[in-house]
Amino acid sequence: MLSSSSAGFRRLLPLLRPHWRQLSWGIGCMILYVGSFPLLIRLAGVLFPALGSGDLRGVLRLIVLAIVIFAVQKLAQFGQDSLLAGPALLVSQQLRSDLFRRLQSVELGALEKLSAGDLTYRLTEDADRVSEVLYKTIHDTLPSVLQLLTVLGVMLWLDWKLTAAILLLAPVIVWLVSLFGARVMAATERSQQKVSELAGLLGEAIEGLPLVRAFAAEPWLQSRFEAEIDQHRRARHRTYSLVALQHPVVGIIEVVGLFAVLALGAARIQSGDLNIAGLSSYLTGLVVLIDPIAHVTNNFNEFQQGQASLRRLRQIENEPQEPADPQDAKSLGDLRGELRFEAVSFGYDPAEPVLHQLDLQARAGDVLALVGPSGAGKSTLFSLLLRFNTCQRGRILLDGLDLSELRARELRRQVALVPQRTTVFSGTVLEAIRFGRDASDADVIKAAQLANADEFIRAMPDGYQSLLEERGSNVSGGQLQRIAIARAVLGNPALLLLDEATSALDAEAEAAVQLGLRQAMAGRTVLVIAHRLATVQEADQIVVLEQGAIVDRGTHDQLMRRGGRYRDLCERQFIRDLQN
Ligand code: ADP
Repeated sequence: MLSSSSAGFRRLLPLLRPHWRQLSWGIGCMILYVGSFPLLIRLAGVLFPALGSGDLRGVLRLIVLAIVIFAVQKLAQFGQDSLLAGPALLVSQQLRSDLFRRLQSVELGALEKLSAGDLTYRLTEDADRVSEVLYKTIHDTLPSVLQLLTVLGVMLWLDWKLTAAILLLAPVIVWLVSLFGARVMAATERSQQKVSELAGLLGEAIEGLPLVRAFAAEPWLQSRFEAEIDQHRRARHRTYSLVALQHPVVGIIEVVGLFAVLALGAARIQSGDLNIAGLSSYLTGLVVLIDPIAHVTNNFNEFQQGQASLRRLRQIENEPQEPADPQDAKSLGDLRGELRFEAVSFGYDPAEPVLHQLDLQARAGDVLALVGPSGAGKSTLFSLLLRFNTCQRGRILLDGLDLSELRARELRRQVALVPQRTTVFSGTVLEAIRFGRDASDADVIKAAQLANADEFIRAMPDGYQSLLEERGSNVSGGQLQRIAIARAVLGNPALLLLDEATSALDAEAEAAVQLGLRQAMAGRTVLVIAHRLATVQEADQIVVLEQGAIVDRGTHDQLMRRGGRYRDLCERQFIRDLQN
């Protein structure tokens, strides 16, 4: 699972820097907006006493002035809100994009342990919350705090003794708010975690629904789901209760404070330290103060919730990353595909090697078949060749170049994989074969022809522009395999890694895939995890792996004559083919 980390919104500040121009205009509007409050307070000090003076013209003039100030204020507020929204959204977009980039380079071993649903939730919901809070902080909290300070300044100027008395109350409010804040943050983090777990379960459930139905396990899944949503409800309820309690507590303190001010104000007037105009201004200031206090306290809660989300997002950063490329990496030209393993040992956990002292050699253009029981280390060999992992001892050489001294991305352009179970991203057939690489349409078509896929693709309603559904669910298994073969040969790789499909296709589809494979394999070195008799029979060399060690090697005929492990394996593994 993802481990914890501490990170705050402060770390997002550098992301704001590129948007300084728009921010400056926005903050300019904010200053204009906040700056209008002292004017309005001063105006109220004149207007309220004037109301009782009978000077209608004077009163009307003051009202018009107040309307003008209000109009400017609201215009400035619009400028502030609209100008600050852009940078806030851009920052959260940048955050998402950075995290996704990071996710793309998480070590594959670590990635397999993460839940897809949980990650999806983090990168959608948590990221949205962060975005929301960031926007609120910039366009609401910041001006509210400014307004609070400005109005307090005016009030201090009007009557510092009275204001100092009020300020004695402030630490109590701040203490209460922060007390709630910490609890709200912890509760939110728990409830977000619950939603993530829910998303994880949903991901699993949707994937496994046919299986669940086949086993009539719906009631079991339903009760697991209900247990999860119940835990989620409880966690959410705790957050709501805390916020619900906070409102009346802070509200009561505010009201008590207001009456205390009225009493103190009356006392100041009685002693002659304050006149009625001063008190009018002062009370207006007090009223103007209530709004920003409410905003700051509410936003503080949301801020804490956003902090929890941000922390959950930042945890992605702590996942182990793919090892960096070596500093002075050699460049790869066109490779011939000569492959050599020299005493290669590797373990996912270095203390428990799964490959022991492998020595292997394939000339350029050779077909090398790997056979062996499941768990022998065949796929691990592939992962070393793709540099998903690096061997702990020994060397792997491609055309004499040590794989560990190459840039991984450059290497992967020369080493192509046809996996056992192919998936494609939704999109057109053309895009599925191109897979983000820089290749012309003509190159894609050539690759499809090699893979014996051109004909069926052209027969699709929109040819190469036909849409493939998620995971290629609208084409047959054999067709999907041929698309995968075309995708693999597109960059003209020197080394082809082929994990033969175990599931049987009908004879016709099988023949079409085999033809595609044969054409795709020509002129390259091929390492194939073999599941078909025909493949091993045609291989230049067969390597028998058992528990991470090579126990035999040779051609099919040699190995069959020798009997032993290979013959056993063959008879078990290729039994269907042998019977045919
Ligand atoms: P094969 O492809 O021959 O079935 P693998 O290469 O998948 O065998 O597995 C070889 C050994 O490595 C097995 O014992 C397997 O449990 C272990 N293994 C495979 N992948 C991982 C992984 N990502 N993390 C830890 N151990 C692994």
